[in-house]
This record gives sequence, C-alpha cells and structure tokens, in this order.
Amino acid sequence: MASPLRLALIAHDEKKDDMVAFARAHADFLAGCDLVATGTTGQRIVDACPELKVRRLKSGPLGGDQQIGALIAESAIDALIFFVDPLTPMPHDVDVKALMRLAIVYDIPLALNHATAELLIGKLRQP
Ligand code: PGA
Repeated sequence: MASPLRLALIAHDEKKDDMVAFARAHADFLAGCDLVATGTTGQRIVDACPELKVRRLKSGPLGGDQQIGALIAESAIDALIFFVDPLTPMPHDVDVKALMRLAIVYDIPLALNHATAELLIGKLRQP
C-alpha cells in the first residue's frame, strides 16, 4: 500500500469557515491523508469533521507556520493548502512569507486559495 499523502492545512481567521467547508467537502479523501495543521485551523477542522485525525501544531502567530516550514524543509510534507487572507494585516506576516518561500524552494504543491485547492485536491484524488 502506498504511504498516505502528508498534507498541511492552514487558514487565516477570515478564511477558516472556507477551510471548514473545504474539509467537509473532501473529508472522505482527507481521512486517508496524514494531516497536519496550525493550532486553531486544526481545531476547527476536527470540530467540524470529528472523523479526521489532525496533528495540531502551534497557532500560526505563535510559530505554527514556522513549524510547518520546518517540516517542509525536512521533506515531511507533500503538499500545502493555505487559505490566505489578503485583506488583513498580520503580525506574523514574515512567518507567512517564509513558509511560502520554503514551499517554493522545496517545490511542493502549494494552494493559496480555495479555487486552487479544489484543483489540487481534484488532481490528488485521481488514482
Ligand atoms: P491558526 O494559525 O490556525 O492557529 O489560526 C494560522 C495562521 O494565522 O497562520
């Protein structure tokens, strides 16, 4: 059996409802993945989809984005879905930028909005 896809999920506060809807819509597929998420995002996903197991890291502003970046650098993440809020200034903006940079450096699939996440998951769902 192939090893499960290691998928990281993050959503900024204004995008968390979107992420919950995304997780609900794809719960059947996500149940077969190794899921890791920043703290609050992970909690929201588990609250909405109790059948999903999610490894929750620190909240983004407290280092969660950097933890996911470190996992990418260790080749422990296969894809990142990050619903970014482009309209709200954030104290941890530099962490967000660093995370995106590492996803690019290590050339992992990176979806930054819902539309791209749907395309990515559609591809990943294919046998
Ligand atoms: P959170 O972190 O899931 O803990 O809210 C996400 C972020 O703001 O980067």
